[in-house]
Order: sequence, then C-alpha cells, then structure tokens
Amino acid sequence: MQFKNDKNFARSLDAKDPLRSFRELFLVPTQNGKQLIYFLGNSLGLQPKQALAYIKEVLEQWAKYGVEGFFRGEQPWYDYHDRLIHPMASIVGALPEEIVVMNQLTVNLHLMLTSFYQPSGKRNKIICEAKAFPSDQYMFETHVRSRGFNPEELIIEVHPRQGELTIGTDDILSAIRSNAEETALVCMGGVNYYTGQVFNMRVITEAAHLAGAKAGFDLAHAAGNIPLALHDWNVDFACWCNYKYLNAGPGAVGAAFIHQRYHHDRNLPRLAGWWGYEKSTRFNMKKGFVPVESAEGWHLSTPSMLHCAALRASLEIFEKANMENLIRKGRLLNDYFRFLLNGIYPQGSDQLFSIITPTDREEKGNQVSMYFPRNGKQVFDALEVSGIMADWREPGVIRMAPVPLYNTFEEVWICCNELKTILQQQPAKILQ
Ligand SMILES: *Cc1c(COP(=O)(O)O)cnc(C)c1O
Repeated sequence: MQFKNDKNFARSLDAKDPLRSFRELFLVPTQNGKQLIYFLGNSLGLQPKQALAYIKEVLEQWAKYGVEGFFRGEQPWYDYHDRLIHPMASIVGALPEEIVVMNQLTVNLHLMLTSFYQPSGKRNKIICEAKAFPSDQYMFETHVRSRGFNPEELIIEVHPRQGELTIGTDDILSAIRSNAEETALVCMGGVNYYTGQVFNMRVITEAAHLAGAKAGFDLAHAAGNIPLALHDWNVDFACWCNYKYLNAGPGAVGAAFIHQRYHHDRNLPRLAGWWGYEKSTRFNMKKGFVPVESAEGWHLSTPSMLHCAALRASLEIFEKANMENLIRKGRLLNDYFRFLLNGIYPQGSDQLFSIITPTDREEKGNQVSMYFPRNGKQVFDALEVSGIMADWREPGVIRMAPVPLYNTFEEVWICCNELKTILQQQPAKILQ
C-alpha cells in the first residue's frame, strides 16, 4: 500500500478498518477527560469492559451458593478454566487438550523445566538468549542450581554479534549445532521483550530436536501478538502470561502448552497437585497421583475464578475478532508506524534515533523499540506530556506497541507527528 504522512490519510485507514469497532469494548485511560494514546498493550493490555460483569458474576455466585458455586449457577467453577482452553488454543495454534490455564508465567516455566529439562550424563546444558527477561534468567539460574549444577557452566547464552543489538537465527542454530551432544534444552523467548525481535520458533525447535534436545518458549510477548503454530512446529512446551497482549489484567492467570505427545507419558517427572488428577476419580481422594492425560495433568491448584473471569472477557473478544484479522491489521499498523518514523529523519540527515526491532524477518510483531543514543529520556518525558503512553528502558530505548484490538492509525499518526515536533522544535533542549 502507498502510505501518506497525512492525518486524513490515517483516518481513511481507520474508516476502512474492519476491526475498528473493537476499540469500543475496552476502557482507554484518560487525562483531563481526553483519551490518552496507549501504546503499552505489550506491557499491560487494556481492560475489556465486560471483565467487570464477569468478575461480578463470580462474586454473586459465591454470595448465592457458597462452595456450591463450583457446580451451580450459569458458569460453574469446576470447569470454568476448561472453557477457556478452546479460544486460547486458537490464539497459539494448539489443540485444546494441549493447553492448561493455571498459575503465572514464571511459576509455569519452573514446572515445565521440571518436566522437560532432564540432564543426563554430559547432555545437561540449556541454550537461551542473552539478556532474556530477568525473571527468566533467575528461573534458569535457580532451577539449574536446585538440580545441583553450576549455572555458569551449564547455561549457554547466545549473544548478538559485536555492534549488533539483535540475535541472528544463524547464530542460535550454530550454538545448538556446536553443543549438540551436550544440550538438554533450548529455551528462548518467542519475541524478545526489549528489542521486539521475533525468533523463528519453527527452525529453532527443529534444530533442537535434531540435536536430541527439547525446545520450549516463553511467549509473554508473542501470545496474542504474532502467528503461532505450536502444535505443528512440534514445540515441546511453552508458557505465557495473559496480561500483555491478552488483556486479562494485572497478575492475570497464566497458561502453558504441552505437546500432545507427552500427555500419556507417566514417567515424565512432574510436580503434581490435585487439579491435575484424573477427573472421574479425583474426588475419591486416593493415594498415588494419576494424571489427566492432557496438559491439564500439570495443573496443581484450585484456579482463581476472579482471574479466570477477566480472562474469559478478553478471550471472547479474541474469538470475535479472530487472530488472522488481528495479525493482518497489526502488520498494517506496524508498517504505517515504521513508514512515519522513517520519515521523521530522511536518510542522510542527522539521525536522532534508530529502530532496533528487526525488519528483515518474516514476522515483526506489534512492538517497535527505538534506540536514542542521547537524551532519550527527555524525548520520552515530552511524549508523556503530549498524552502518549510508551515505555522507557535504560540505557536509551523507548518501546511502543500499537495493537490492532484498540489502537488506531490516527493515533499512530498523532504519535509520530508529536515525536517529530519534539525532535525538531526543541532540539536545543533535547540535545543538551
Ligand atoms: C512479562 C514477562 C515475564 C513476567 O513474568 P511473570 O511471572 O508473569 O511476572 C516473564 N518473561 C518474559 C519474557 C516477559 O516478557
């Protein structure tokens, strides 16, 4: 499409957008009665209006029936979380039985490593990305230590090349190949939280399996953002939180994917709880763990119904919008955003920032990370004053994620216009 840097053009894209009415389903933060431009859907997605009604419904059911709410009312709690697995499965490209909605992300990663990190002899290493999200780094470090190993020796981090900010797929593959005999697990993000880089999960999984290792992914920034086909890619496991692109609220209940081929394997080590016990005899409360033969077999505890209610509100919107439509609009939003950003400083002129999220890969995702070598924080503060909510990361990165469910082309245009004004009209202030 031939883009134009023009507000009316942006508005015409909104007018043609088949998903434009979805914004109405969300509560957009305001300041002095005016809606802010919220480009933080990668950090905490906005609140679906329906979340309150579904949360109230749980509270009312509790008030009316007490513990009987597990089996009575419109939405009995006993299998409330099970009703979320179908819409979730279509977001991540899984079979419904490969999904379990439970706990939170870091907890689930530990549980998955218990099952899928099986060091044996010299095959005991974990390959991951350098500068993974801190919680993931601590998870690897302490998990490896809890097995009696030294993390310094067993965790191999793949770094960007000298002078680069993102990690080449070739470098990941060659790290796997050159450690083929010693690698037990390859575990990466689906999308790096800082750079927005999308990893090629299909080829990484293939390479891990060829080396005889398992492949798992942290999809915090991938679920609800990019196309995923976890089942077909043969991914062994994946975990994600539901409060970023999936809009289920702060500290939302998380989810995990466990490939079908493990569901009947009773010898796989796991940490179990009663919610993972075979359903028909669960309440006999017998000694000896018998897992449900699906991802549910990893479920530990009574789910938080209040969190499941918020997630239900969000997943209904995803079902209605459909992931394919969201991806189509997301790409267009992202292309328009990059077109306008690249127009702020045409090639050859003074470059005050650069986009570090790679463009040369098949998938770009919704996030754009911009690196400001100088005074990025002042630019960030000025954007905030203009009503644009973005995210600041040391030492010079502004992250923004216009998302297809509730952001508009006009917002993207306004943001870039503000950014241009900030950079051009106040250069003295910004560049001091
Ligand atoms: C957001 C995020 C987390 C957060 O983990 P919680 O357990 O949900 O707090 C973990 N990993 C990555 C890659 C993230 O982006």
